[in-house]
Amino acid sequence: MTPAALIFDVDGTLAETEEAHRRAFNETFAEAGLDWHWSVQDYTFLLRTTGGKERMRAWRETCGSGPGDAEIAALHKRKTARYAEIVAGGGLFLRPGVADLIANARARGIKVAVATTTNRPNVDALCAACWNRPAHEVFDVIAAGDEVRRKKPAPDVFLLALARLNLPAHACIAFEDSRNGLRSAQSAGLRTVVTPSAYTAAEDFSAADWVLPSLEWGRLPVVLTGPMARAA
Ligand SMILES: [Mg+2]
Repeated sequence: MTPAALIFDVDGTLAETEEAHRRAFNETFAEAGLDWHWSVQDYTFLLRTTGGKERMRAWRETCGSGPGDAEIAALHKRKTARYAEIVAGGGLFLRPGVADLIANARARGIKVAVATTTNRPNVDALCAACWNRPAHEVFDVIAAGDEVRRKKPAPDVFLLALARLNLPAHACIAFEDSRNGLRSAQSAGLRTVVTPSAYTAAEDFSAADWVLPSLEWGRLPVVLTGPMARAA
């Protein structure tokens, strides 16, 4: 059965964005005179918490002190702007196969959607940099983290994408790179392809329907046209 829609996570799945996010956080902290700096090891740990503001609050708990919630919200706004500048400056590329998969899906009449914990400006920045087109021209539906109450691993953002697609979960396939994302998609009833990314390679994906090293087209027909057997 050919799916009616493909629903993509953004960070780590469409592109290896996490280093740009980490740099944007660290530059924002330095600019604000805040004595915070996240190493790769710190950020690997922090990525277990979904959402930028939530991540900063988690770090505040780890440190035992830090800025209040209002200041964290302001820092996060500045970080989002800095991230857009970094992405616009180049150096961020789609993961192998992503552009072809989306183009092939659209050519076959399969809808493409985003269900992400990141916020809408970050999706816009990525689409402008990697497709040179606005996000609404690349994707039929965009569901972003700030539009739902509970972030991944809760199913909310995938359920929002399904509602906007007006499609049932069994007609769609989700694409994720993290365990939190996999749990979110499967909780929404979606079969899920996982392509582990730089920051998630060590996570447990044994529950995934398919685990693939990349979304290169040659690997995808089994996912898109069946048989719907689980990956070994
Ligand atoms: Mg991700």
